[in-house]
This record gives sequence, C-alpha cells and structure tokens, in this order.
Amino acid sequence: MELEAPPDTRRYANGYSGLLRQLLGARRRNIQPPPKLSLSEWAKKYAVLSRETSAQTGKFHAFAYQVGIMDAVTDPSVETITVQKSARVGYTKILDHISAFYIHQDPSPILVVQPRVEDAEDYSTTEIEPMLRDTPVLAEIVGDLKAKDSKQKILKRVFRNGASMSFVGANSPGGFRRITARIVQFDEIDGYPIQGAGKEGDQIKLGIKRTESFWNRKIIMGSTPTVKGFSRIEKSFEKSDQRRYYVPCPHCGEFQVLEWGGPDTPHGMKWDKDENGNGLPETVYYVCKVTGCIIRDVDKPEMVERGEWRGSKPFNGHAGFHIWAGYSLFPNACWENLVTEWLDVKDDPLARQTFINLVLGETYEDRGERALKEAALAARTEVWAGEVPDGVAVITVSGDVQDDRVELETVGWGRNEERWSIDHTVIEGDPESDDLWNEVDAYLMRQWRRADGRPFKVEAACIDSGGHHTQKVYEFCKSRIRRRVWAIKGESAIAGKRNPVWPTSKPSLRNKSKYRPIIIGVNAAKDVIRYRLHLEAEEREGAVVYPPGYMHYPTDRDINFFAQLVSERSIVKQANGQKYRVWELPPGRANEALDLAVYSYAALCGLIHYGLKLNKRVETTALPYVANGVDAEHVIAEPPAEIAPLAAPLSSQAAAPAAAKPGRKSFASRLA
Ligand SMILES: [Zn+2]
Repeated sequence: MELEAPPDTRRYANGYSGLLRQLLGARRRNIQPPPKLSLSEWAKKYAVLSRETSAQTGKFHAFAYQVGIMDAVTDPSVETITVQKSARVGYTKILDHISAFYIHQDPSPILVVQPRVEDAEDYSTTEIEPMLRDTPVLAEIVGDLKAKDSKQKILKRVFRNGASMSFVGANSPGGFRRITARIVQFDEIDGYPIQGAGKEGDQIKLGIKRTESFWNRKIIMGSTPTVKGFSRIEKSFEKSDQRRYYVPCPHCGEFQVLEWGGPDTPHGMKWDKDENGNGLPETVYYVCKVTGCIIRDVDKPEMVERGEWRGSKPFNGHAGFHIWAGYSLFPNACWENLVTEWLDVKDDPLARQTFINLVLGETYEDRGERALKEAALAARTEVWAGEVPDGVAVITVSGDVQDDRVELETVGWGRNEERWSIDHTVIEGDPESDDLWNEVDAYLMRQWRRADGRPFKVEAACIDSGGHHTQKVYEFCKSRIRRRVWAIKGESAIAGKRNPVWPTSKPSLRNKSKYRPIIIGVNAAKDVIRYRLHLEAEEREGAVVYPPGYMHYPTDRDINFFAQLVSERSIVKQANGQKYRVWELPPGRANEALDLAVYSYAALCGLIHYGLKLNKRVETTALPYVANGVDAEHVIAEPPAEIAPLAAPLSSQAAAPAAAKPGRKSFASRLA
C-alpha cells in the first residue's frame, strides 16, 4: 500500500480509478522479481550510509575483505557464518546489510540477538531505523516509521512485503518464544550472559531452534572474542573452515596473513625506540613474513584490495572468518594508532586483554604471554627431608567437601608466607555419614614431623560448607571451634568486588548465638594464589632463594592436581560501564586443588586475624628440636575471647597417623 502518497490522492473526490491505479502500481512493483544479486552486489547498488552511524554519508563502499564475508551470506552452499573479529573492521555494516537484503530482495523473517535487551533496542533504533529511513529501496516497503499505529515497534518490525525483524536480548528468558526466523544473526556472542537465558538454556541453541522449519536458513554469528577456553566465537570459528585474509606483499608479491607479531617473531608490526627505550609509533612498519620486506601503512589499501579469503579447514557448509584492525582501512585504525594503543596498555594486564580482544580480535590467554602451564608447575616439584620441611612454622588444613569424598590438603607456612604443600589426601565416603567425618577428624588430629623429629599439629582448618552438606559441616566444625576448625563459605562475588580473604567485620551480637560460616574473600585469595604460583626461585651466589609467598609442591602430585590449580581464568567483564575481573572455571574442568589452596590461605589469614605473628613464630620454630618443652610457644599470642587457645599438646599416641585406613590415599605417608 502506498501510504506515503499525498493525502489528496486517497480522497474519494479523486475517484476509485485513482485508487486502483495506485494499487496496481504498488502490486506491479511487488510482483516484479527482484534482480538476483549477491549481498555485496546488493550493498554496492543500494546501500546508503546514515549520518547517525557513519563518519561519512552517501553510498556505501565495501573494503575487499567485507565483500567475501557478505557474499558467504548469499552463497546457497553456506548455512552458518562465523566472524571472529576485532572492532573497527566494519562488521556492523555487514550485519545491517544482511537485514536489508532479506527485507528487500528475499523477504524473510529475521531474528537479531544482542547480548542484552537494551543492546537489542539500541541496535534497532540507532542502526536499523536510520538505515530503513535512508535506503530508498527499503523506505518504500517500510511504511511510516513515526505513525502511532505503525507496525514499527522497536523490538519487532513488520514490513509490507512479508519480511519482518525481531530483536531479542540474550539475557531475556522467554525472549525467543513465539518467534520463527529464517535468518538469525547472533551479535557479540561473547557478551552473552554465561548462565544462558535463565532456565531455558543456551541462547544460541534457542535461537537456532527458531530456524528449524526453514530449509534455507542462515545462521550468522559474530563477536569480538574474550578469553581462551571461554570464548564462544572462538569455539564456533574452530568448527568452521577457518578463513583468513591473505594479502600480497607489495615487494615480493607473496600472499600472507597479517599478524601483530611480537619481540620474538621476525615478522609483524615493528617500530623504533628512542634512547630511553620508549616506542615511537610514527616509525611503524610491517615486516613481510615470507621475505622480510618492509611494508608501510600506505601500502595497505592496495594489499587489501588484492587480498583473498583462504580457508584452512575443509568446508562443510560453515564459513568462518577472522579479521582484525590491522587490515582496516578506517583512518582511526592506521598502524601508527594501533602501536600507540599497544604502548599504552602493554604493562597493564586488564588493558592488555582489551587490546588483544578488541584490536587483534584474538582470545586472551590468561596473563598474556606468561600463561601458567600445569606442566611447568609439575616440573618444579621438590623432595624434602621429613614430612615437614625446615622453614615451616605453622600448619593448616583445608577441606573441600564433594558428594562422594572430602579432599584435604595440609600446608606448612614459613617466613613471609612461603608455603609448602605437605600432604594431599582424599577420603572417600558419604559426607552425610559419621564414618567419613571421624576419618576427617583423625586427619586433623594427626601430628606431622620435621626431619629432626619436631612434631607439628594442625593449628587451624577451613572446611568448605558451601556444597550439598552444609549442616554436616556445621556440626563438625561447631564442636571443634576451640581447635580452630572453621566452617567457611566462598563469597558470592558481585561485580568482581575484592573483599578481604578473612572478613574484618565482627559478627553482630544478634548473630553471635547462631552458628554461621565464615565468608571468605575468594576472588582476592585467588588473585594472591595466582600471583604466587608465578613466582620463581632465584639463584644468588650459588644458593637457591625463594621469594616471599613461594609455593612449594612435593614430587608426589600428578599433572591433574596442577591442572586443577590453574584451571580458572581471570576474565574481564563489564557492567554499568565498570570493568571488573572475576575468576571463572571453564566448562568441564575441575578446580578442587585451587579451592584447597584458597581455604589453606584463608586458614592462615584467620590465624593472623587472631594474633599469629608468623615471622616471629618462624624464629622460634627454627631452633633445633629438643623433645618435651617446645609446644608452649605454639599458642597464638592473643587469642580472642570467643576462640579459646589450643588445648594442651597432644600426646604422640593421639597423633598416630591413620594412613593405613582403607579408602585413604595419603601421598605424604607414601613418601615418608
Ligand atoms: Zn615480501
């Protein structure tokens, strides 16, 4: 219907014949088959840039790499398209054109999924609406954008030729209901909430389900990536034919993929430094990977123009593209700018992740180039004399309660919180049964001996009460509070907040009567542990020196233990404009060893909170052992009123190790 025709043509005064002419004209336009165009041909012919969304207005001109991505969308042999990309490569315009094409050329129901409902609204109003207004062939089939009764709702647009667009936030449970779509575009999928669309499950699966009735559906996924192991776009790209953009060197003509490179790679972005070692971005050049030619930014437009997409895996209907800002022909993505940005962030891990994601379009590996590998930790394990190495002053135990077992770690603490993992034991059994807890108690009562015979008893223990057996843990710990056996629970980290590892606030009087767990600042503890796992021993004048906080492990630990220790990744998230960091466990990985390290550290923090002076204690403990007459010092100086000091020293009988019990795997006792 020609609703935008001048009002008087619709007047009855002009007669039925006038109206009929209008109708026939409109019908003819709709009946005419649209010319068969690929998406890039369509964009070249019809696409217009809007003032709100582009630095320039007028006709759209594609960069050569955009053409290949667009034409995959209209290639009948392609069903799924994945674009792993940086910012500033012109991806949003590709998205816009996909919608425009399937509104104008091949009217279809289109679904656009954005990370949040607000993003979906924003995309609909700031990208799609100007496009519909400014692209003449679309304006014809849109109708009045402003009319009150128009079908142009922000989250649902219905067009005269039967095409439609629905906009959904991946955070909205139920957002996918009642929608069917032939074309579904998932935008910024690495920004989708981890928990999925509430109870309904994974948002991408839900969205794809909405296309199942269309044999000729198209699924388009695009995103800047986030963290390795978590990134959905990377996973999707890995399933694709993995196309990268090859450009010819202007000097030797060899085709190659542009890469950022680094100090250790001969090719990639290079720049000079001043006499103080500061980088000079204006000197940037690119070293050709094949022949070592020097390539300048001015060569880039022609290289990109002559470039081509090449896949590295067989094609199975899934086209994948990787593109980053090094290829971009936008003026703000010139190589000099990219180097300036890198020099700004290279020393700040948080900002470095942003650069790697948003400029290079790559996933971030934890701690950048210094990713901690379990194999490196396993390679530096040690053998020491006795159960308790020299240097240990205080012993703590941590317990992680699982549905079929309790895992326990005994840790010795020395000067400046240098730390030795003395034992890791798994006691199998039902945490609802007393048998299991009796065994845990025997473990906590055990004494550990130094090579010279000095006995050590456990001075504090933290047992996790956060799992399925909270009441049982409470009962166990409550009756052992005088021995500093503490029921603890990890904080629920809101927006990456760093609470102290051991809570500083005193329980209120009202709460005192009720037993409750100690809430541990897990995020802060994990920061400390990750930092300390990176510490390395140094050799000074022929002697090995360990830095404060160094974590020693014995040779009996297997690679799985260390894999658990480094299982979690520090991820940058954004909420309300604030960036923050949280620790997250990639799917399918176990983290008990890390939890044990967290609770051990919490136990030490608890002892310090109640008055332990660790370094002072190290001095007295270091003295040679004389049987009888030592343990008097093993009392924390100023125990608080509500926590009694440790009971009298245990007799050696009471501390007989119970390592031979069935169901127990004590690594230390095997060592001893
Ligand atoms: Zn070359």
